[in-house]
Amino acid sequence: MRALVFAANWKMNVGPSEAREYLAIFRHAYAPIPDRQVWFFPPAVSLEAVGEGLQHRDDLLAGAQDIHWEPKGAFTGAISGPLASQAGARAALIGHSERRHVFGETDEQTGKKVAAALAAGLHPVLCVGETLAQREAEQTMAVVTRQLEAALPEPGPISTLTIAYEPVWAIGTGRNATPKDAAEVHSGIRAWLKQRGTEGIKILYGGSVNLKNAAELLAQRELDGVLVGGASLDPAGWAELVRTAAA
Ligand code: PEP
Repeated sequence: MRALVFAANWKMNVGPSEAREYLAIFRHAYAPIPDRQVWFFPPAVSLEAVGEGLQHRDDLLAGAQDIHWEPKGAFTGAISGPLASQAGARAALIGHSERRHVFGETDEQTGKKVAAALAAGLHPVLCVGETLAQREAEQTMAVVTRQLEAALPEPGPISTLTIAYEPVWAIGTGRNATPKDAAEVHSGIRAWLKQRGTEGIKILYGGSVNLKNAAELLAQRELDGVLVGGASLDPAGWAELVRTAAA
C-alpha cells in the first residue's frame, strides 16, 4: 500500500489554546484512513497542547519546526532536540527554507541539526529546494544535491528520515511546481539516495499545496505526501485536504 504523509507546518501561528481547539475540530472532521499519516508542526510553545490533542491516535504525530544542534546550553530563544522531545515532538523539520533564507541557516548547520535530531530520537524531515534564480539558471538539481550532501555527509543507509522538496519560489506564494516538475526533482533525489545506499525514504512536496491542487500533485507516484503551510491552518479545510487528496 502507498503510505502517504500529510505534514502541516503552522509556522508562527496557532498558540496553545488555539491548538487545543484546532485538534478537537480536526479529530472530529478526520477519522483515520489506513494509508495516511498526518504530522503537525506547531510553534514550540504549542507542542505540548498538540501532543495532548492527538489523543494517542497513531495516525497523528507532533513535530518541532526547528531545533538547535546542541542538546542544551546558553542559546537564548532556541530549543534543542531533547527539549522538543520532552514537549511531545517525535519529528523535527530541519532546514526549512524560512530557516535558511530568513534566518541565514547554513548547509553546515542543517547537517548538524539532522545529526542532533537523530541523537534525540526525533525523525528529521529535511527540507531542500532551490530559489527562482537557481531554477531559471537550471541549477535545481545541483542546489538540491549540495543541500543533501551537506545534511547527510556519512555514506550508508539511513532509515529514520523524510525529505521535503520545497522550491523556495513556491512557498507561500500561491505558485506551485507543476506535478511533473516536482516528480522530476523527487526522482533525482531518489537517485541520489540510492547511490548513497539508501532506499525507501519518503519524499514530500511542499510549496502552495492546497485543496485544489493536492490531488493532481499526489497523482504523481514519485510524491509520498505533502508539506503544507497556509492551507493547513484551518482544521476543517486541512481535514478535507487529507481526506480527498488521494483515492
Ligand atoms: C511550508 O511552510 O513548508 C509551505 C510549503 O508553505 P505553503 O504551503 O504556505 O506554501
